[in-house]
Formats: sequence, C-alpha cells, structure tokens
Amino acid sequence: MSFKKLDVAIIGGGVGGLAASLSLRRQGHKVTIYERRSFTAEVGASITCAANGTKWLYEWGCDMSIGNPVMQKNLIMRDWKTGKALASYGMEDYKEKWGYETNMFHRQDLHLMLLTAATSTEGVGEPVTVHVDYVCESVDHEEGTASFTNGETIKADIIIGADGIRSKVRTSIGVIPDMTSAPQTCFRCNVRTEDVKRLGLVDYSLDPAIQFWGGFEVPDINKYFKIVMCSVSGGTITSFYCFMPTEFALQHVSEGFQFKEVAVDEILVAAYKDLLDKDCQDLLRNSIERMPWRLYLHKPYPYWVKGNVGLLGDAAHPMMPHQSQGACQAFEDAAVLGLVFSKEYPQFTQDPKAGLAMYERIRKPRGTRIQTASRRATDDLHERIGFTTIFSNGAAKEGEPDETGWVKLTMKEVNTWNPAEILKQYAAESA
Ligand SMILES: Cc1cc2nc3c(=O)[nH]c(=O)nc-3n(C[C@H](O)[C@H](O)[C@H](O)COP(=O)(O)OP(=O)(O)OC[C@H]3O[C@@H](n4cnc5c(N)ncnc54)[C@H](O)[C@@H]3O)c2cc1C
Repeated sequence: MSFKKLDVAIIGGGVGGLAASLSLRRQGHKVTIYERRSFTAEVGASITCAANGTKWLYEWGCDMSIGNPVMQKNLIMRDWKTGKALASYGMEDYKEKWGYETNMFHRQDLHLMLLTAATSTEGVGEPVTVHVDYVCESVDHEEGTASFTNGETIKADIIIGADGIRSKVRTSIGVIPDMTSAPQTCFRCNVRTEDVKRLGLVDYSLDPAIQFWGGFEVPDINKYFKIVMCSVSGGTITSFYCFMPTEFALQHVSEGFQFKEVAVDEILVAAYKDLLDKDCQDLLRNSIERMPWRLYLHKPYPYWVKGNVGLLGDAAHPMMPHQSQGACQAFEDAAVLGLVFSKEYPQFTQDPKAGLAMYERIRKPRGTRIQTASRRATDDLHERIGFTTIFSNGAAKEGEPDETGWVKLTMKEVNTWNPAEILKQYAAESA
C-alpha cells in the first residue's frame, strides 16, 4: 500500500495543536491550523516539560534557544509557615536515567518555539499554514468538515480538535463532559528577577528547582493551600501557582486564562497573609500578571475519536495541574499522530479513520491514567511523581497496588512509555 499525503485541519493553535502540526508536517502531510485568537494575546505562567515531553521537542527539531527554558535540577518541598526545606528529590542523574532533561518553560516562550518550528520554511516537511481569528463552531465527522463563525466551512482528510478545555469539536462529536468544580482553585502570577534583585527579595531564580509550599493537611492550614514555584525564561521570571480551597475564590467562576488581572490581596487570603513564609509572601506582593485559574474535575471521556475527527490535548484529557503533565500529554498525543500517519504505516494514510482509531487505542489508556493520577495528587501530594518515590503515605509501595487496586504513577512509568513499540505490536496484531 502506498503512502498518501493527507490534508489535515487542526482546530486550535495552542501548544497541543502546534505540536500536532509539527509532528504531522514532518511525516509529509499538508497541515492547516485554525485558531480563534491572534497569538499576541497569549499569556501564562510556567509549563514544565518532563523527559517524556522534552524527547519530542528534540525529535521535532525545535530550537530550544527560542523556548529559553530553565533545566530543572531539584524538586523541593518547603514548610508553609517557615519556608524551611522539608524534603527534596534531586534530579542530578535525571537526564542520564531518562534520556532527556526536564525543562521549565514560560508558556509564551514554549508557544513561540513551537510556532516557529511549525511554520518555518526550514526543517522537515511543508510549513504549516496558520489562520488566526477563525472560531470553530462545529465539525461534521461524517462529511469531514469544520465550520467557523466567519461563515467559512473547510473540508479535510482528518480534523484534529486541539481546541482546549472547552472544546467545540468535542461537543460536535457527541462527547459531553462530566465535570464538577474542583475543591481547589488556582491563581498564577510571575515575579521578574530584576524586581527580586532591586528589592532584595529571596532570589529563587538561582536555584533551578520546582518548589512546593504546603499541600499537606497540617493544623490550621487546609491541604488545598499550596504554592508551586519555578524559574522560567532563562531565569528572568519566577513563576507561581497559588492554590487555595475553592470557597476562597468563588467570584472566579470559569475555567481558563482570559480574565482581568486580580489584586494581590485576592491571593493573599488569610492562610497566605497570616501564616505563609514571609519571604514567599514578599515575592507574591511584588508579582505581576496575576490571573485566576478556576479548576474543574473532568471524568475521562467515553471516546476521543469519531469518524475522521480526533481530539487531542486538553480537549481529550483535561487534567488537574498536579503532575505537571498537561503539555507533555498533548505532546504525546501529537507524537502518536505522527507515528500512526507515517510512511511506516501507509495503511493508515489510506484509511484515516482506522488511523485515528489506532491513535485513540494507544493514547486513551495512557492519557486517562495520567489524568486520574493528576486528580489523585490534588488530594494527596504523595501521589505526585517524584514525591511518590521519596514518600510513603503508609499505603502501597512503588509499583504495588493499594487496597483499591490503584498503582501510583512514577517517574519511571511516565518517562519510559514507548508508543512506537505499542504501535508496532498493535499493527502487527491487526495485519
Ligand atoms: C492561555 C493559556 C495559558 C495556560 N497556561 C498554563 C500554564 O501556565 N501552566 C500549565 O500547566 N498549563 C497552562 N495552560 C494549560 C496548558 O497549556 C494545557 O494543559 C496544555 O498545554 C494543553 O494544550 P492544548 O493545546 O490542548 O490546549 P490550549 O493550550 O488550551 O490550546 C487550545 C487552543 O485552542 C484555541 N481554541 C479554543 N476554542 C477554539 C475554537 N472554537 N476555534 C478555534 N480555536 C479555538 C484556543 O484559543 C487555544 O489557543 C494554559 C492554557 C491556556 C489557554
């Protein structure tokens, strides 16, 4: 069977959609992205990319200097009140063990790096075409069409819904999210290193670590009070995720990042103002770009693919942020699309529906497991990869099921997943 060049339409030009465009471009396909916004509106804080995501960034020929990441060297847990380091998970041998490093990106830098690689006239394959200000209203999985609010309808061999947590593509293929408000809400903000130096604050940019405050139930502090901090943009920005019980932020009712900036006092609620480590508080008081991020718990969806339409990234497996795997899982989705629709498996380029079914077969169990682990880590920090290895919460040991049959997610499992092998096996079975 001969390889067929496919016409691929991707709805959504976030990090997942861009990654998919890059992965498919490199396999010889014609890829067009339809994005609702112009990219100048992009905001965000840190996105951590563990080895399982970094691997694909190298594979796709991304210019890491554009992403300007900070390489993570440590995972440090600090006491909420004193800021004292309680435990750390060293990552000196991380790259040696897992083949690639963990990179901490500013979302804007990561986005620009992927966009540059996708649209460049250099590199493997045909440059991706990106249309902005295209708001998808619906897709028709039988006709293979997507319609936009500007009145246009396009047709493609494959349509990928990479349109994020409130995916229209997902609704169009009949997947209705079963979601509830999470018990925890997040604010994110950034502190400029130049401000840290000017004001004489504690300079965490010197330490390329992800640092946690709180996250455990201790007397007078709810476990949903948690801060996650890391350095991004070559160390010029320290990025914070400030979590708290949802009842402290009920005024922020929707999910996402398109909000008005909030006053610092919205973050510095009682547990922060009265109890939190003063050095950390001082950094928050001097932060910029403070935005709320309301979180929802999504149950796994019954399917990700219908006909020639497939879902990817947050549209397929929205997850809590507690495993730092949101972007990495989108990259794995993108990578599997590239593997399936490659010259090695021309049968899938001839029958894109079968190819998308294969994509779902490979990706859904993995994405669902990480989604579940992210939800579990909301309630129990022992479930956070890295911490799973250094702490035992009295329940099951690494690799052993607990009384409910759940086996904790580990670094090893996250970083050794090999979709090429899985595809090879499944394709051989169905040959
Ligand atoms: C602005 C923003 C900032 C974020 N910041 C962080 C962060 O700091 N840390 C973190 O861990 N995670 C963050 N996330 C979530 C994280 O980016 C995702 O988990 C992960 O990157 C998955 O990416 P995605 O491409 O599936 O979804 P998204 O990144 O949400 O991208 C979806 C894209 O689809 C577009 N879109 C949506 N609806 C339509 C439509 N109807 N028609 C056309 N286009 C549409 C959106 O504009 C967006 O560009 C952020 C998400 C957003 C949108």
